[in-house]
Amino acid sequence: MIPAAKPLIGEEERAAVDRVLQTGKVAQGPEVAAFEAEFGEAVVSGRNCVAVNSGTSGQHLGLLAAGVGPGDEVIVPSFTFAATANSVAITGATPVFADIDPASFCLDPAAVEAAITPRTKGVMPVHLYGHPADMTRLGEIADKSGLQVYEDAAQAHAAEWQGRRVGTFGTWAMFSLYPTKNMTSIEGGMVACDGEVARKVRLLRNQGMEKQYQNEVVGLNNRMSDVHAAVGRVQLTKLAGWTAKRQENAAFLDANLEGVVTPPVADGAVHVYHQYTIRVPGDRDRFQKALAEEYAVGSGVYYPIPNHRLPSFGLTLDLPETERAAREVLSLPVHPSLTQADLEQIVTAVNACAKAGS
Ligand SMILES: *Cc1c(COP(=O)(O)O)cnc(C)c1O
Repeated sequence: MIPAAKPLIGEEERAAVDRVLQTGKVAQGPEVAAFEAEFGEAVVSGRNCVAVNSGTSGQHLGLLAAGVGPGDEVIVPSFTFAATANSVAITGATPVFADIDPASFCLDPAAVEAAITPRTKGVMPVHLYGHPADMTRLGEIADKSGLQVYEDAAQAHAAEWQGRRVGTFGTWAMFSLYPTKNMTSIEGGMVACDGEVARKVRLLRNQGMEKQYQNEVVGLNNRMSDVHAAVGRVQLTKLAGWTAKRQENAAFLDANLEGVVTPPVADGAVHVYHQYTIRVPGDRDRFQKALAEEYAVGSGVYYPIPNHRLPSFGLTLDLPETERAAREVLSLPVHPSLTQADLEQIVTAVNACAKAGS
């Protein structure tokens, strides 16, 4: 079976863990500091970065540092992983769900504009599947209405919009380092941010302390350990090669798949293919089952239930493109460990299932 995702954790990562364990200093320390600096250089054009223990923690602390709290609204997509809206709700603010652009699967700027109220504090686009949201139009709308922009870049390490890296647009941006993401620290997150926001994120991740036992604000323990940072530092050296391989795999699928809608790339966008997501008109779930059972091709549905309809939010809203995407999307394997034979097997399987109308 070709798996839908495959974390690549090898000899060098194990050696790095062993090296840190042998020092006996394993909590947040010099490895974390080095990882922050190296990630900033490699991923967000030298922007300052703060490491935390998960992507979700990064979003939570970023929102708190930006002053988001009870009474505020933050506009988010519903077609994303639950962490996006959860991070807003856990601050006491209200996530307001807006529809997506069917081409990019990312927030539709017109829908964002229509969702603005006097309570709107910010907008959080998600660069879903590794394709950047339209940061030009979202930036214009945010400027016009005095809103902040927060980037959920969990799936988009090194993606670009109009020649600029994602993670350099918002008040802050979060990258996830979960095992299935484009690179991992096992669990972890990185927040790209500057100045006073960065200082607040650093305080909040460490009980509100910069100096030991001089707690300035109420905070949490959301620190990354040096063991996790050591894994992340090794992974970072491989990110560019892995991204290029994802893009090559995607180009092969684009050129050879028939009878399904392949993922479009907007003008001026660099897609990093965290997922290669097609649309299957008709019975998507039967199509997925046939791929697995008849052709040994794994795939994933991200995400079958829009966030607003999850029991945790339980809202009835009219978001037609969100609903259609949730019914139609199917993510095929695109990860860097695919062989040419795997790619050919995926093409054969998808084309046969599409032809059979399954
Ligand atoms: C993975 C993910 C997150 C959360 O990251 P964790 O590291 O798992 O906490 C948030 N948003 C999106 C879109 C994600 O894919």
